[in-house]
Amino acid sequence: MSIELPEAKILAEQMNSELAGKRIKSYHLQDHERLQRIGMLDRDTKSFDHLVNGEIESVISRGNVIHVKLNNGMNLVLGPEYGGKILYHTRKRKIPSKFHLKIDFRDSSALTVRFASMGLIHAVKDDDLDHSYVYRRDFNPDVASPIDEGFTLERFSKLLMNNNRMLKSVLVGKAAVVVGLSNSAFQDIVYRAKLHPKRKASELKKDERRTLFDAIRLVLQERIRLKGKDQFYDLYGNQGGYTPAMGSNMKQQTCPVCGTSVEKLSVGGGHVYFCPNCQV
Ligand SMILES: [Zn+2]
Repeated sequence: MSIELPEAKILAEQMNSELAGKRIKSYHLQDHERLQRIGMLDRDTKSFDHLVNGEIESVISRGNVIHVKLNNGMNLVLGPEYGGKILYHTRKRKIPSKFHLKIDFRDSSALTVRFASMGLIHAVKDDDLDHSYVYRRDFNPDVASPIDEGFTLERFSKLLMNNNRMLKSVLVGKAAVVVGLSNSAFQDIVYRAKLHPKRKASELKKDERRTLFDAIRLVLQERIRLKGKDQFYDLYGNQGGYTPAMGSNMKQQTCPVCGTSVEKLSVGGGHVYFCPNCQV
């Protein structure tokens, strides 16, 4: 389960409308040593002390990253891309016993962040935002967000044509030409675009580039419209309604289009499920 662009956007919008104007009373970190060891949580947790008494000004997302901006020069950067739950609690709702970060607000409401395996939490000053690796990666204006108006077929086509790498590394990861896609969205997108996961970007024909562009837009828009993937829970604990057309949920199944057995490939440090008949 991963939280990619659509789910990060859903969470950020809910957090913005629910949390803006709230003042932070205290915070608790729990079970966070492992995240610290792998560099995903500030080594010196005193940075979190500066969040206290700050008022939440706004919450926005770009790519897979959520940026909580406070009015006292501090920021909370959340990178939940490996999955987890970010939940809002009022007095009526019981706070889960397990969390990585809990923030209590002055009005007795609270926010908890619990990652499934790993995820990133940084408390950073305005001037140090770029020190956060995921912030730098996903809020970089030079890398397109596929839901931005500026993400056009022309711009995308140019990025593909100049790129002789495999589609996976062109769309996902450190050197991706867009932000917000992880392995989960990738499998869904190349299946819908009928492209083999190992195709090279620069070798795509004009109509294939268009099909890929349309598939990216479709998958992201549908996931936003249906309130996230079916394993995703929003800020209020509501489950999303989008089931990927291809991915680990299709393990040992047959392609709904042609009936061929779905296969698994190892691509770019992850497993990709695909239809060997439809995807060429
Ligand atoms: Zn098929």
